[in-house]
Amino acid sequence: MNIHEYQAKEILNTYGIPIPRGRVALTSDQVERAAKMMGGRCVVKAQIYAGGRGKAGGVRLIHHPEEAQEYGKELFGRSLVTKQTGPHGLKVRRILVEEAVEIAREFYLSITLDRESSRYVLIASAEGGMDIEDVAGKSPEKILTLTIDPFSGLRPFQARKIALALGLAGTICEDCVELILNLYRVCLDKDCALIEINPLVVTKAGWLMAMDAKISFDDNAIYRHREYPDMMDYSQLDPLEINAAKYDLAYIKLSGSIGCLVNGAGLAMATLDVLKECGGEPANFLDVGGGATREKVAEAFRIILQDCDVKGIFVNIFGGIMRCDVIAQGIIEAAEAVGCTLPIVVRMDGSNVEEGKTLLRESGLNVQIGNNLGDGASRIVRMLSGEVQ
Ligand code: GDP
Ligand code: MN
Repeated sequence: MNIHEYQAKEILNTYGIPIPRGRVALTSDQVERAAKMMGGRCVVKAQIYAGGRGKAGGVRLIHHPEEAQEYGKELFGRSLVTKQTGPHGLKVRRILVEEAVEIAREFYLSITLDRESSRYVLIASAEGGMDIEDVAGKSPEKILTLTIDPFSGLRPFQARKIALALGLAGTICEDCVELILNLYRVCLDKDCALIEINPLVVTKAGWLMAMDAKISFDDNAIYRHREYPDMMDYSQLDPLEINAAKYDLAYIKLSGSIGCLVNGAGLAMATLDVLKECGGEPANFLDVGGGATREKVAEAFRIILQDCDVKGIFVNIFGGIMRCDVIAQGIIEAAEAVGCTLPIVVRMDGSNVEEGKTLLRESGLNVQIGNNLGDGASRIVRMLSGEVQ
């Protein structure tokens, strides 16, 4: 689960990590007022669930409150497309206005879960800022990493080694040690999957400060933090994903044109692989789970049809707990309710498979039956390319 930069900064601040003075605005008038409070000169930042805003025009240094208001008008409601958002971008609905800080140096600092070692790993670089991905690609030796032992935790001498390697000395080095130790405390207390400060800066006045902050919580730990659901900004999520979550369906948006309705995550992965092998591009995958009911299948079908990238549907279901005729009823019900005319290929196997196939054949829908996974996948690909009707 992601949160906005301003929320992440509030958390860091409660752990003693310095952040710039700032205000969140919901309208361009509020942006102007906040800019006045900061004394005119300020930084105006679009709040979206993605980084790369600086290069995409979502962060601007402002000199007058009127200029802030103008920029606010430009940003609000607009979809900001950055390297991390995908082609549709993310709508700006909140803007952070902060005091402008004179920056002397920019660092990169993060703690994230390393799935390979199953441990937190601290990552730091003296070359932080907007080009950190390039640094990682071109000069990986400039990226420092430290795997944290969960039993001994992060030790002050380890944090000091990192601070010294960043080229810090004296009191600012000690401040950095404290900041790194506090960052690790945030990770543990808040069950973070990722905390990233980029850039962490030394200001011209000689202070360390978190200029940007990103936090992702571990979804499996949300139940331990009652305040997390209220922190979520649904405007930043795909509405179809929200709808799917409501019905306990796992829906993942992809970039192709074939909607995939599957039961079970393993079968879903296999379906995507075989589709790709046949030259098809999945538009999404929707896992209805092992014991899906007719209503659930119908809802899943509706969600797939709302995805306007979908040009055809591939259903791959194994009727184990779930009977194939019940699944067929769910598909027919949903397809008729929304007047679906898209080509559909159904591959099903398991309990009552013949009854299920008969229902589909007699439904009057534009549906073909796949004899097996490979046959089903190549059928939907050929139907979309116009090779078969
Ligand atoms: P991101 O591009 O989404 O990661 O957004 P950031 O919050 O990191 O902002 C992009 C860049 O704007 C940073 O790397 C800083 O160099 C710059 N920046 C952000 N806040 C300030 C500020 O208060 N003063 C100055 N001078 N630069 C800032
Ligand atoms: Mn940043």
